[in-house]
Amino acid sequence: MAAESGGARPRVVILGAGFGGLSAAKALRDAACDVLVIDRRNYHLFQPLLYQVATAALSPAEIASPIRSILSRQKNARVLMARVSGIDVAGKMVHLQDGRDEPFDTLVVATGARHAYFGHDDWATFAPGLKKIDDATDIRRRILLAFERAEATDDDAERKALLTFVVIGGGATGVEMAGAIAEVAHWALADEFRVIDPTQARIILVEAGPRLLPAFPENLSEHARRSLEKLGVEVHLGRAVERCDASGIVCECVRSQRNDRNVGRRPPQGPNCARCL
Ligand SMILES: Cc1cc2nc3c(=O)[nH]c(=O)nc-3n(C[C@H](O)[C@H](O)[C@H](O)COP(=O)(O)OP(=O)(O)OC[C@H]3O[C@@H](n4cnc5c(N)ncnc54)[C@H](O)[C@@H]3O)c2cc1C
Repeated sequence: MAAESGGARPRVVILGAGFGGLSAAKALRDAACDVLVIDRRNYHLFQPLLYQVATAALSPAEIASPIRSILSRQKNARVLMARVSGIDVAGKMVHLQDGRDEPFDTLVVATGARHAYFGHDDWATFAPGLKKIDDATDIRRRILLAFERAEATDDDAERKALLTFVVIGGGATGVEMAGAIAEVAHWALADEFRVIDPTQARIILVEAGPRLLPAFPENLSEHARRSLEKLGVEVHLGRAVERCDASGIVCECVRSQRNDRNVGRRPPQGPNCARCL
């Protein structure tokens, strides 16, 4: 049944209990209003450490905190676990997927962002994004299973492929992921296998732009590149991935302005082309 608005105190409904939604709720702690925080999950996710879950350094529970506990002392705040399916702005009503409605006087929409494939949505099957716990545990499963399957196979080419990890995108998440995979391969798992040598795993970071971490000052980009290379990551700049499927990736050589779409053949342009990775 729909809750009723129209009491003496204004009703503020906040959609999403990420950093944005929780900050808004906390800022209203002493305000003369009733706050309702709606999230499809019952926990707040600390996204900056997702890559640690993806590389088995942390467990999911270590980066998830119950929204109810976070707001338990805030008397004017109530938490509702539900998925929002629509908003009627004129009617001041939030529609929930389970059929209920919640009225509001003021609405804060803080439902976050999804990762983008820059027009290549078909890559999702082969290259999962990293926004949710499920994404992180899926990546972790893929990474750890790759080592297990490499240990089990008798086929050298398959083993080599299984021990090659490609991270697309040299922003903060890509840099963190590549570094963390290198640490897993070159340190954490170094002595755990008998057939394969995990330290021989290739970790390749591909970035279309001329430097890593484009949002940061240039000297930090260079520092990040050197640090990754020390960890054993191959950093390839100026290369845009144009295809990604079960057999691997194909890059366009941005630096040489070459856009060779004959993806089946080894290109002739030498080591500057990412297709020769
Ligand atoms: C891997 C990774 C690493 C990062 N590292 C850093 C870093 O080092 N430093 C930094 O400053 N930032 C970092 N960020 C960015 C930072 O985490 C985000 O900017 C921040 O989490 C965004 O907060 P938000 O509240 O806008 O959205 P979110 O945290 O995404 O929260 C949105 C909430 O809305 C809920 N929601 C969405 N849709 C619905 C719906 N239909 N119904 C109900 N609820 C819904 C979700 O369940 C979620 O709880 C990182 C992000 C990622 C993914």
